[in-house]
Amino acid sequence: MTTNQSTILIYILFSMKKYLNIILVFAFLISCSEDNAYYSLEDYSKVKKTDVHIHIMSDRPYFVEKAKADNFHLVNVALEVNQGWNDVFIKYNYGKGQKEQNPETVDLVTAFAVSDFDDPAWEEKVISWLDSCFDEGAVGVKVWKNIGMVSRDTAGNLISIDDEKFDPVIDHIQKRGKTLMGHLGEPKNCWLPLEEMTTNNDRSYFEKHPEYHMYQHPEMPSHEDIVASTGRMLEKHPDLRFLGAHMGSLEYSVDELAKRLDKFPNMAVELAARMGQVFYQTVENREKVRKFFIKYQDRILYGTDLADNESITKEELEDNMESAWKRDWEYFVTDNEMESDLINSSFQGIKLPKDVVDKIFYENANTWFALNLKD
Ligand SMILES: [Zn+2]
Repeated sequence: MTTNQSTILIYILFSMKKYLNIILVFAFLISCSEDNAYYSLEDYSKVKKTDVHIHIMSDRPYFVEKAKADNFHLVNVALEVNQGWNDVFIKYNYGKGQKEQNPETVDLVTAFAVSDFDDPAWEEKVISWLDSCFDEGAVGVKVWKNIGMVSRDTAGNLISIDDEKFDPVIDHIQKRGKTLMGHLGEPKNCWLPLEEMTTNNDRSYFEKHPEYHMYQHPEMPSHEDIVASTGRMLEKHPDLRFLGAHMGSLEYSVDELAKRLDKFPNMAVELAARMGQVFYQTVENREKVRKFFIKYQDRILYGTDLADNESITKEELEDNMESAWKRDWEYFVTDNEMESDLINSSFQGIKLPKDVVDKIFYENANTWFALNLKD
């Protein structure tokens, strides 16, 4: 080798070393940004989260204690189940008691009754009740599936959410800067025979509650009728902040839900008790479901419908909470192959980027319920 050749070789080696360093730096940066872009299972309790759909019907502290340990803020939801104001008061007051103990962890959604819908004083009664709840800090109002499917006026007609008698109440909720949360209708499975239902949880619920299983009640409104009446209500109140509970009853198709969200820009949805339908659609087309969550990342809130009605022990309650919350965390943050008793096939997590997870699990609740949480 001549001196000249040696010089060139040394130069080449030196240059490669220089580039190698640059390559190593790039590889390091890429691996860091990969780490930064996604959460892991281990991040679960470190990351702030909100469950916007829970029901504590107890004075015991276990639900809130577990939520605090797992870094969850809670929105406790009242509703009228058993036809009447007393039911609303009982459910709201349980939530209020929990909030008094833990004002930093619990927020309240109130409700009103339609049992006296034809009473000329109904509107005034509802508005003054809602005002008293808002003055205590309630962030929203829930309307339940009894409207449209169960409750009737004195003439015997089903009460529908697009009835003009609701308009002043809804206008008032909007004027007070609060959110209307609507569980209107049921999952589409409700109109199918048990063996055609897509999720095991719906199948067992409607088996236990034949009174709500619309397949057995052909005289009742169809799924489409109820979705249409909610749409007519939203058309009358374009500035209302509306949160469609249970994926706005369009849980069976992210395509249909996307059309709905496109049509009503002041509508968001939460996921309570419909993860089975999300998993089911993930089996069919994971990429489509993943794209849906990314496209509508500002319009989806995490919720579960977890409840404490004192029917189970502290340990069982904590197990229920942790298994649902961790299952969903795994689905959203990893691409693990998963199984759930909600459906009969395995499915793969959709591994959403961190910023999307933060919106769905936390930030969107602050926006859509106008919560005033400290960072
Ligand atoms: Zn619920």
